[in-house]
Amino acid sequence: MKRISLAIHGGAGTLVKGMMTAELEVQYKAALKLALDEGYKVLEQGGTAIEAVEVSVKLLEDSHLFNAGRGSVFTADETHEMDASIMDGKTLNAGAVSLISNIKNPVSLARDVMENSEHVFLAGEGAMKFAKDQGYELKPTDYFYDEFRHKQWLEIKDTDSFQLDHSVKKDSKFGTVGAVACDVNGNIAAATSTGGMTNKRYGRVGDSPMIGAGNYANNNTCAVSCTGSGEYFIRGVVAYDVSCLMEHKDLSLLDAANDVINKRILEINGDGGLIAVDAKGNIAMPFNTEGMYRACKSSTGEEEISIYKE
Ligand code: ASP
Repeated sequence: MKRISLAIHGGAGTLVKGMMTAELEVQYKAALKLALDEGYKVLEQGGTAIEAVEVSVKLLEDSHLFNAGRGSVFTADETHEMDASIMDGKTLNAGAVSLISNIKNPVSLARDVMENSEHVFLAGEGAMKFAKDQGYELKPTDYFYDEFRHKQWLEIKDTDSFQLDHSVKKDSKFGTVGAVACDVNGNIAAATSTGGMTNKRYGRVGDSPMIGAGNYANNNTCAVSCTGSGEYFIRGVVAYDVSCLMEHKDLSLLDAANDVINKRILEINGDGGLIAVDAKGNIAMPFNTEGMYRACKSSTGEEEISIYKE
């Protein structure tokens, strides 16, 4: 049997000691474990990488702990605008949505764009219209209310600044979620979902829904899901950069992912991390921040659920 693998993340960033309580840490790890186990079960039962990454990301979106789906941060207008994307490494099909609201699981809408539309990327009102045509029910806005996120927003709402959910020292919450998987047939896939940045405005969109920047999958190289300061990840075309280093420089998954996160993106001041798998089931989870919520599991017995640098 071929090696199956799954890796997930719940955001990378700075975590000030003392902000994270032992209790909260247990909650985060439990949420990661649930998403990991359920996604992995899909792979074990012979499901596809696409199915597995959707299952894992949906569970992370359903948790208020992460900045995606239910736990999405507040925009400058005190609303939630969510972005998500998904990509199939076997076919290079992809789907993405941006600036959507009241949708419980943005990653599923991204998958519907991939499978049930002729397009790759739908945004704003148009994406919402597509969701309606696909039969999506809208969640009431208070489903997305989280006291901590609201407090984060209140602190900067009258300023011009917008902030990464996890980049400010006093912030104990990380953000964006993602999953990458390699299934029993050696097909790989990636999915990413986020509420973006606190106090964002002007229709700001980060890297998460952008194929090549925050999310990418290609059976010949790797599947990648990123988290970090989106503006830098877009400019670094980070997810595709990992793939390019493998394709054109013949680097291994680990070397390519490390090179991008610990060198290339740092050179333009980008902070964050990524998770990646290749079609042999190898896993990489580098980050250049203090921590990254992350977990992985593979049929070789590898299993990890961590937050900080070991
Ligand atoms: N990359 C996301 C964005 O810029 C944020 C994050 O990873 O937390 O929208």
